[in-house]
Amino acid sequence: MNLLQTNELTRYFDITRKLRVHAVERVSLSIAENEIVGLVGESGSGKSTLGKTIVGLHHKTSGTVTYRGEELPQKYQSGDFQRLATKMQMIFQDPYSSLNPRMTVGEIVGEGLRLHTKAGAKSIKEQVAEWLAKGGLQADHMSRYPHEFSGGQRQRIGIARALILKPEFVVCDEPISALDVSVQAQVINLLGELKERMGLTLLFIAHDLSMVRYVSDRMAVMYLGSLMEVGKASEVYFDPKHPYTEVLIGSNPEPDPRVERVRVSTSIQGEIPSPVNVPAGCRFASRCPKAMDICKQTTPELTPLKDIDRSIACHLYV
Ligand code: SF4
Repeated sequence: MNLLQTNELTRYFDITRKLRVHAVERVSLSIAENEIVGLVGESGSGKSTLGKTIVGLHHKTSGTVTYRGEELPQKYQSGDFQRLATKMQMIFQDPYSSLNPRMTVGEIVGEGLRLHTKAGAKSIKEQVAEWLAKGGLQADHMSRYPHEFSGGQRQRIGIARALILKPEFVVCDEPISALDVSVQAQVINLLGELKERMGLTLLFIAHDLSMVRYVSDRMAVMYLGSLMEVGKASEVYFDPKHPYTEVLIGSNPEPDPRVERVRVSTSIQGEIPSPVNVPAGCRFASRCPKAMDICKQTTPELTPLKDIDRSIACHLYV
């Protein structure tokens, strides 16, 4: 059963009266209960904006987000944040800037309970201590400030802050990309453990495709604001169909030497176009080694393939 579904979800940012950033365009994606969907793509492809629009941190320019059958408001009012905070949360990329330096760790982790529940001070303190312990921190860390902690510890504090409200759905926005390699696995393992224990559903945004393959059930590939390919994570990784997915995976180093030995290495030519001037037709046409005449004229729709569980937006598959 789908927990969450976006239907043609679109988010534009108007910079001036004439300049508009097409950050997310007509994204339709469903996420089943207890599923981890990995969202990948280059920087500037709109992954974070999609995550923030789903949880209501950006309003929707058009399209819908449906959560357990309920269509969520186009623009959240304070009551919507109150009501939905216990259902949907977000873990942010940068544990250095996402924690308020003037608040103690106890205040940061307990803030959601104070704002969105009726829990009293004693109960909040107990729950904060419990969540710090789950992240390998101690109760006396409550009175300290974020700058007193390492990057990995700060991300655990960010995870505790998001999960203390016991949400069902969490957007993890590149939760390990700002961390040392040595602590990345610890944070991933903590998230995996909590996901199992709490029955969470995750949208896991990341750059590292091999990590996404490892943690996700399905993988969605985004380019210049639109989805290019969606399918089972390991099948997309080992048998990419869309030309963009092929070069994205081919340019991603593989940590497993057995896989690296047989991997076809490629590199992506050119730069991702500006989301202010989105090209007509297929968004990937200016960089695609397989582009045809039709590609620059007609936008391919994300379409399910007949024989395998995969959806592709490419004229090669129509
Ligand atoms: Fe390449 Fe055309 Fe497919 Fe776009 S639609 S990915 S340009 S072949």
